[in-house]
Parts: sequence; C-alpha cells; structure tokens
Amino acid sequence: MKGTNMKRIAWIWRIWRERPALIALLFFLTLLSSAVAVTYPFLSKLLLDALQGALETGAAARGDAMDEIDRIVLLFLAVGATGLVSGLFPGIRGLTNNVFEHLIRTKYFARVMSKDHRFFAAFRSGDVVTRLTDDLYDFPKLSWFLCSGIFRAVESISKVAFCLGAMFLIHARLTLWSIIPLPAMIAVFWITQDRIYDTFRKNQEAISDINSQLELSFSGARVIKAYACEPKYVRFFDRALDKRFSTELAVIKLETVLQLIYQYIDLVAQIAIVFAGGVLAARGEITIGTFYAFYNYLGMLVYPILDVPQLFVSGKRAFVNIDRLEEMDGYPGPKVPDVPVRISSVETIRAKNLSFSYPGREEKALESVDFELRKGERVCVVGPVGSGKTTLARALAGLVDPDGGCVEVNGVALGELDASSWRALVGYVPQEALLFSGTIRENVELGSDSPDDGLFREAVGAAQLAAEIDAMPEKERTRVGQRGVSLSGGQKQRVAIARAIARRPALLLLDDITASLDAANEERLMSRLREISGDMAVLMVSHRLSSLRYADRVVYLEAGRVLASGKHEDLLSNASYAGFIAEHLRGTGA
Ligand code: ADP
Ligand code: MG
Repeated sequence: MKGTNMKRIAWIWRIWRERPALIALLFFLTLLSSAVAVTYPFLSKLLLDALQGALETGAAARGDAMDEIDRIVLLFLAVGATGLVSGLFPGIRGLTNNVFEHLIRTKYFARVMSKDHRFFAAFRSGDVVTRLTDDLYDFPKLSWFLCSGIFRAVESISKVAFCLGAMFLIHARLTLWSIIPLPAMIAVFWITQDRIYDTFRKNQEAISDINSQLELSFSGARVIKAYACEPKYVRFFDRALDKRFSTELAVIKLETVLQLIYQYIDLVAQIAIVFAGGVLAARGEITIGTFYAFYNYLGMLVYPILDVPQLFVSGKRAFVNIDRLEEMDGYPGPKVPDVPVRISSVETIRAKNLSFSYPGREEKALESVDFELRKGERVCVVGPVGSGKTTLARALAGLVDPDGGCVEVNGVALGELDASSWRALVGYVPQEALLFSGTIRENVELGSDSPDDGLFREAVGAAQLAAEIDAMPEKERTRVGQRGVSLSGGQKQRVAIARAIARRPALLLLDDITASLDAANEERLMSRLREISGDMAVLMVSHRLSSLRYADRVVYLEAGRVLASGKHEDLLSNASYAGFIAEHLRGTGA
C-alpha cells in the first residue's frame, strides 16, 4: 500500500515537473494569501487592545494610543493590497487544471497508440475512452486533483499552520484546546481509506462499462435497428445505468457520512473553546482583543480542517484514476528485439508450422500451416467461411501471435525484425475496411511517407476507383466517414486497396476482395499491379475463378489446415478442392 502510494506521488511529481513555473507561482500566491487571511484577526486584536488601553488609561496617554491606531490602520491597508495580488490564485489554479488535463491526455493517447493489437484485444475501446476523458476532467477527477485539489490542501494546511502559529503567539494554553479534534479526524480517515478507494474504483468501472455500451450501440446502430432489438439494448443499457447509479449513491453516502463525522468532531471542539475562552476572558486572564482574535481564528480553522481530510478523499479518487492510466501504460507494448534486423525487401515470407487459436476458443483457427510466398509471386487463398483465410493474412501481417511455429521474412523471424522497416514493406487490406474521417485523398495517403500526385493517381487507378472519385462532388477532396459522404462497403474496401498500393509495398495482403470488385475489375487490378511492380509479392483471398486461374499458386484451407496447394488446374484432381470449387463457384460463369 505504502509503496504504491509513493509511486503515485512520484507520478504526480513527474507531471508537476513539466510546468515548474506555474507550480512555483501557485505555491507563492497560496502561501501569501493564507498569510494575509491570518493577519487580519491579528491586526484586529492589536487594534482592540490599543482601544482598550486608551479607554483604561487617562487622557494623557491618548495621543500615544492614537499614533498606535494610525500605524495599525496603515498595516491594514498594506495587507489589503497584498491580498489583492494573492487573490489571483484560484484563477491560476483553474487554468493549471486544464493545462494538466491537456498534458496527460496528449501523453497517454500517444502511449496507447504505441501499443499493438494485443492491447486493443485486452481493453474495450469505451473503457480506454473513459480513462482518457471522464477519469481526467471536472471536479473531482484527476486533473482537478493535480492542481486545485492539492493546492486547496496547501491553502488549508498553511492557513491552519499560520492560524495555530498566531494563536500560540497570543495564548498557548487556549490554543491547545483547538488541536483536540485533529487526531480524531486523522483516525477516522485511516479507518475509512480502503473503503473510499474501493467505492470510487467501482464507480469509475461502472462509468467505463456505460461508455463501452454506448460505443457498441452507436457503432452497431444499424444492426440494432435492422433486428428491431432496441428494447433489448435499452434494457442492457438500463442495467449498466442502474449499476452506475448505485455505485454513485455509495460514493455520496460515504462522503455524507464522513462529512458528518468531521463536522461533529469540529462542533464539539468549537463549544469547548467558546466555553474555555469565555471563562478566561470573564476572569480577566485574557484581553477582549485576544478573545476576539481566537473566536475569529476558530471560524477560520473550521473549513480548512474539514478540507484537509477532503484532500485525502479526493486523493484516493485521483489515485484510482492514476492507476487506471498506469494500467494501460504498463500493458506490455510491442516486443522489441535486442538486435532488430532491418530489411529493405521481401524475398520470401514463410509460415512455418503455424498454429493459432483465438483467446477463449477451443478450436484452432490455424493448424500446422506451412506456406511460402516469394517475391513476384501471386498466391490466392481460398476456403470455406471460417477456414482461417483472414487469420492467415493477419498472421503474415504480424497482427496475431502464433501459439506455435512462426512467420519468417527472408529467413528471419518476424519478432526479430525492425518493426518500422518491416511495416514499410507491407500493404494490408483487411476484410472489413475502415475509413477515417477526412478526404478520400487523406484516406488513401494515410500510410505514405512521401505522398505525391503520381502515386495517388496510380493507386486509385489500380484500385478501380478513379471513375467513381471523378463523379464525387469534390473529387478526391470529398470528405468521407463521419460527417462526410458515406461509401458502400465495396467502395470502402477499394479505398483501402488504394491505400495499400499507394505505399508501393513489397508484400500486398488482400483479404477477401471478392465483394468489392467484380471479375473484370479484379483482373484489371491484377494486371495493374504487375505493371506497377513486377516483384510485388501478393497474397489475396478471393473466390473468383479468373483470379484462381491467374494465380501462380492456390492455397486451399479447410478448418485451419492447408489441404491442398498448387496451380489451380493441377488442384482440380484433389477431391475436396474440386468439391469446393463446384459448390462455391457455381453460377459465376465457371
Ligand atoms: P475466414 O476468413 O476463412 O472466414 P477466419 O480466419 O476469419 O476465417 O476465422 C477462422 C476461425 O477463427 C473461425 O472459426 C472464426 O470463428 C474464428 N475467429 C476469427 N476471428 C476471431 C476473433 N476475433 N475472435 C475469436 N475467434 C475468431
Ligand atoms: Mg475472412
């Protein structure tokens, strides 16, 4: 517990160190404002004592007393002017909260983006979004705590310290009475702290759940509508909301109870002081000025003393948020080899005895797959739905980690390669193409380091998109995705194909392009690819007879295994392959 608290404090310190000037300024202004606040009752006491002195002594001494009063009035003016400057600090505090929020979000977004596919399989996207948004902003979440929370405590603690200092100066014995509630409050805090941490963690998890659900229901809105299962989905959501409501209620209950306990402790102390102070004043053991100052200091102590445990309460909350950020950050990133091998071409890519099953699935998506693709070769992968074609393409792209066997490029295991030099050589078109909000051109050039007009035209030409782009309202500057023109699934995939070609890859992986291109266009794509680069290695998942005939080799998969591989014509003697072709290509002009 202690060790991890130290880690969290170190985390806060690291964030603070990014804005040292702001933090220093805040410390200075906060201490100054506490000092100003504590000075007023002290000056009042001096004034009252001077007045009392003037009343009690004869007319002769009144001139001296008036001089004293003048001096005190000047002091009041000076302190008031200082207060004006130090009064700026709450504004600076609010500003600093926003600065930290921005800083943390930028930093952790970049870190999340550096993770690989494992991370995104482990964390739901709604959860990641919550950790980078709701966890950070507003009272009393992390960024509030980092500045306002801590500096409110600095303000309170310094006020308490200055108050106690002034009180000790005036009357030590009476001061001791006011320290009585402190140990009791600290005790209450220590007893309840684990409860606090737990309650807030549950609450934040409930919020994450809701955001995940929202994300799912909006991205799946079409499906939900099509199946008319809105009521069912609304029920799911209600349940998540109920959970959030009940965890929030638990948070409020806990806060209320703690507030009440602290307030009662304080009230008892206040009564004790008024009683003791009153008795001392009546006996003439303290002056009216002293009693007045004490009464004021007591009023000033109440809120800061209540506020300090609040720091620990909101600290516990912030610690939950820090832990949630660090949990993402600590998730293992891509494995980096000790001596990464840089490559500049793909001579061969080979799957060696490759096996893989998706987490939580018994059956293997790939089983003992041996497969090789050489520079300049065009290989077609075919097989029934669920036979592992997509998984094979993902494995070759390095997007799944094999359970057994490995993928080698030019004889070097994928894991040993320098990731960026390898990535630069691969163009991968997933089965479900994804477009980002932006123009067509931005989408196509997403993966290109040095985009130019020539490459763009070449890519959209090869992907058989040129005519469609010309027909769009703003041509290649047409916005697509959110708040843009919506494209059909086939068009989206062709944009994805253009995106892959635009980087002139050495290895092109095309997953299931049958739906996006008709037979003639698929043929045109293939011959354009030849013209662009004769040495490009191409793996395509396609069920077009023309592509199968054209391919240098066909690999036939069934239930994760390679059942046959070779030239299409030669494979026709294989019963399962011939059966598959007869079954699936019926009516396609075969
Ligand atoms: P294909 O592309 O040939 O249709 P896939 O490679 O997509 O086949 O799937 C192979 C097997 O792996 C199937 O049994 C499928 O249900 C399973 N599978 C595919 N993707 C996932 C996933 N993300 N999580 C769990 N199982 C999956
Ligand atoms: Mg597939």
